[in-house]
Amino acid sequence: MFTKILIANRGEIALRVLRACKELGISTVAVHSTADADAMHVRLADESVCIGPAPARDSYLNIPSLLAACEITGADAVHPGYGFLSENARFAEILEAHNITFIGPTSDHIRIMGDKIEAKQTAKRLGIPVVPGSDGAVGPKDDAHAIAREIGFPVLVKAAAGGGGRGMKVALTADDLDNALATARAEAKAAFGDDALYMEKYLAKPRHIEIQVLGDGQGNAIHLGERDCSLQRRHQKVLEEAPSPCLNAEQRSQIGEIVADAMRKLKYRGVGTVEFLYEDGEFYFIEMNTRLQVEHPVTEMITGIDLVNEQIRIAAGGTLGLRQEDILFEGHAIECRINAENPRTFAPSPGMITYYHPPGGLGVRVDSGVYQGYKIPPYYDSLIGKLIVHGRNRVECMMRLRRCLDEFVVDGVLTTIPLFRDLVDNQDIANGQYDIHWLEKYLAEDKA
Ligand code: ADP
Repeated sequence: MFTKILIANRGEIALRVLRACKELGISTVAVHSTADADAMHVRLADESVCIGPAPARDSYLNIPSLLAACEITGADAVHPGYGFLSENARFAEILEAHNITFIGPTSDHIRIMGDKIEAKQTAKRLGIPVVPGSDGAVGPKDDAHAIAREIGFPVLVKAAAGGGGRGMKVALTADDLDNALATARAEAKAAFGDDALYMEKYLAKPRHIEIQVLGDGQGNAIHLGERDCSLQRRHQKVLEEAPSPCLNAEQRSQIGEIVADAMRKLKYRGVGTVEFLYEDGEFYFIEMNTRLQVEHPVTEMITGIDLVNEQIRIAAGGTLGLRQEDILFEGHAIECRINAENPRTFAPSPGMITYYHPPGGLGVRVDSGVYQGYKIPPYYDSLIGKLIVHGRNRVECMMRLRRCLDEFVVDGVLTTIPLFRDLVDNQDIANGQYDIHWLEKYLAEDKA
């Protein structure tokens, strides 16, 4: 087992990882930018190192600085959290070259899944259902119109290097196609420096359902069920729940087993998430995230499994101690992402938290890095915490969530808590009837 883990992240996820390390008896090193000197992860870690100025590219993304921090403290492993360098294959390679373990999958697997065309081809080869579309990139010399006709309109033009929903354009009919290709190409070039594009069938009203997997890199892998993350704004998840209100146990084990089997063939190591769009009873692969996800706690709440603990044990060379039949799904969990943002305009709201009172009680978990008197810096994403609630069933979970949102007080800055208070009272949400466009429509009507 490791003796000292450096946590290459900040905010709630740095704390989340720190907690798992403490329970395993592993020393922790926090890293921070000059803007984060007073952050909770710095206070709670055994040691801390300042790795640079406020902008993330100079600190949390600064590989030489992180390496120096490992050398100075003698850390033998790095946990990257999510975001920042968590899906950077080069970072994983550099660490390994310095005999420091990257707590995550192999750099090869990170690289394959980071290229959306290669990821889709790999998924298909491993038996995972994918969205019908072009076989690989659509080059300037290809007959894009013929390919699109074969797929059938509407089609979605996507960037191979895509991320965060950028470089994505819908062509409803053949008349829109040239325009969609040109704008997607320009956007992809500007955002990723890579203008490779591909096309797929545009699904009109899908849900976003993702499967959590755990593998040991030695050919053993299991799935931990799904999370439904259909409530999104600008392709960003807002609320996540498990199990999905629209899957039964048979459908769950069917898709879960397909994914787990693919991970066995791949000899995947660590935690990962295979994301699907789900429409009319069919699953369509869209991408795989080769890291821990923001919404992992909903899975932990219904399975009782500590995913970070598993990540660390496996990275240290452990084998998968769990069998598929050991995984039992109990009750229902919902997570709300609490952002320091105006709940109507979503404009960031950094500043001092003058009063802070999180909810508590049975089945309630708050993962957050903030405290009363903490000053939210303006340099990073606006997630300040996550409220995760568990109940014996979805109805109990929703009732508890409503109660928790009433209790939650964050003063001094604006937060998205009022949005969630509205959502728990909405009939569609209560019924679990929403697709990936539901929230955008709801917000547009709300403002009208
Ligand atoms: P990114 O990596 O940019 O986030 P994804 O492939 O994960 O791109 O897609 C992001 C979001 O775009 C999905 O969650 C979904 O809302 C939408 N999307 C992606 N592919 C399709 C598709 N074929 N049809 C309809 N919507 C899609």
